[in-house]
Amino acid sequence: MNKDARVFVAGHRGLVGSAIVRRLQAEGYRNLLLRSSAELDLRNQAAVDRFFEQERPEFVYLAAAKVGGILANDSYPADFIRDNLQIQTNVIDAAYRFGVRKLAFLGSSCIYPKHAPQPMPESCLLTGPLEPTNEWYAVAKIAGVKMCQAYRKQYGFNAISVMPTNLYGPGDNFDLNSSHVLPALIRKFHEAKQRGEGEVVVWGTGTPRREFLHVDDLADACVFLLERYDSPEPINVGWGEDISIAELAALVGAAVDYSGKLRFDTSKPDGTPRKLLDVTRLRALGWAPKIQLRDGVAATYRWFTSQAGARGQN
Ligand code: GDP
Repeated sequence: MNKDARVFVAGHRGLVGSAIVRRLQAEGYRNLLLRSSAELDLRNQAAVDRFFEQERPEFVYLAAAKVGGILANDSYPADFIRDNLQIQTNVIDAAYRFGVRKLAFLGSSCIYPKHAPQPMPESCLLTGPLEPTNEWYAVAKIAGVKMCQAYRKQYGFNAISVMPTNLYGPGDNFDLNSSHVLPALIRKFHEAKQRGEGEVVVWGTGTPRREFLHVDDLADACVFLLERYDSPEPINVGWGEDISIAELAALVGAAVDYSGKLRFDTSKPDGTPRKLLDVTRLRALGWAPKIQLRDGVAATYRWFTSQAGARGQN
């Protein structure tokens, strides 16, 4: 990719897309093609075709998706499966038909079976049933991986699939009903501290284990993989270690400097017991993440308070 290449970052306002844009801009890419969902509805095939025909991107990062935490996935299954199938089908197909040189499709570690061996290698895809709370999203993402493989096999289209673990960082969704656990806990601890509340509610039992990767590390991996990876197999991008939700809550509490108690609300779902990616293949290519969870959470908390300040809520 030279610095004048026309690069379409689909989903550039999201957590992942915005991190990829920051990273590409820092490297001096001058021709980024960016459209908000109001400007270009990626669920609309005719609109997507028009965009590709007019703008002729050479490279595509497909980071646009309908995403959300455990409750959102469980509450809006139709939206999750439909929107994601539409977005990825339209973009992958148009990218192929309008001559894109390479596309990176962003998936998720939830594509792997609920009871996959831990850590989960790429080869465990489609070897068992999915976690029911997010199977709608997972099925769509699996279809995206298969579509990249099919277009490579039938048409020789250079599409790769990147499977990140649970991500966090600036630009995350902090809405308590739809967010993932890490931003939810940042917000809950921050508000409890401000209001002087002695207790924070953490969903589930606190025993599930999750792996967390800072989104700037993922963006770094995405740029690396677009240059160095050309295989039909999806490739995992993770930190390499996981922690329990209870440990995460303690870590976030310390970052926010909150001294109250935790209460575990076991009426809320735990989701899959463990979700740790096997990152052997990525490490073998020579890539490793850099941002320690403690530092990443502290930086994300600073970002969150700066946003709250900008909205006049701090
Ligand atoms: P998942 O990785 O797809 O299960 O998605 P989440 O990030 O939403 O949830 C991860 C784990 O954190 C689950 O066991 C949740 O029950 C737990 N959790 C604890 N407190 C919260 C919270 O406030 N919000 C969310 N989304 N999850 C929470």
